Amino acid sequence: MLSTSSRLHTIVYAVLMSVVLICATVHFTALIAPYLEERNVNTAILTSAIASCVLAPPASILMALYSSKLISVQEQLHELATTDPLTSLLNRRAFAHRYEREAARYDRTNRPISLLLIDLDYFKLINDKYGHAGGDEALRILADHLRATSRFGTDDVARWGGEEFAILLSDTGHQSAVRVAERLRRQIETLKVKFNDHQIHLEASIGVIACRKRETLEQAMQRVDLCLRQAKSQGRNRITVYPEDMPVDAETVSVA
Ligand code: GH3
Ligand code: MG
Ligand code: MG
Repeated sequence: MLSTSSRLHTIVYAVLMSVVLICATVHFTALIAPYLEERNVNTAILTSAIASCVLAPPASILMALYSSKLISVQEQLHELATTDPLTSLLNRRAFAHRYEREAARYDRTNRPISLLLIDLDYFKLINDKYGHAGGDEALRILADHLRATSRFGTDDVARWGGEEFAILLSDTGHQSAVRVAERLRRQIETLKVKFNDHQIHLEASIGVIACRKRETLEQAMQRVDLCLRQAKSQGRNRITVYPEDMPVDAETVSVA
């Protein structure tokens, strides 16, 4: 199924192709007119006009249909290259592109961006208890939740690894990022994950950083991963903010 913009592209393509074919026929007739006997000129013009008007539209539609097939294949390849098959979230490569774009915007406009790294707690035990299919279902439901609660068009959500998810919050400084992270942590705790007749309970640890100017994704990921490790070592099911992003009067870096 083609996207709306590709469908529009196909229609425009068909219309333009018709115009081109009709113009080409008119030009061709004008080109050969001097070599025809005078009484045949009008017949040639009439024949070419009818032929071009009758044949150009179906020919254009066929070409447009062929082009739409190519576009559709291209879209499928793009989707395969940029999304995670289990959750349909962005994959690492696509997330890296979004990060570069947002980081460049931050440089230009001074609008801050923040990064969250979410890791499900004791996920191995969920697989052990409910099987891999149960674990997969939990990942899918969590992904749907993250997608549904992110600001459409501005926040980017990716599956960073097995049970790890990265969220890039645009126009968001560290205080708002902390609020978002804490809200997500609570929502994950109460997320309804049904698998067969079971209710799977999830908890997550979340690292939070406000990105620095000209910070590469690799550097940002290193910092946010550090926060995540700290959240794990401090007991899990909590968010941890990078120390220098905390307000000066705050004593701890964790919000549980
Ligand atoms: P921690 O609280 O320290 O994060 O513990 P954990 O068990 O979540 O972390 P660990 O790294 O030990 O295990 C991650 C588990 O996630 C192990 C792996 O089998 C599971 N996993 C990774 N990818 C998938 C997947 O696509 N589907 C399922 N069902 N499980 C996955
Ligand atoms: Mg992990
Ligand atoms: Mg984990």
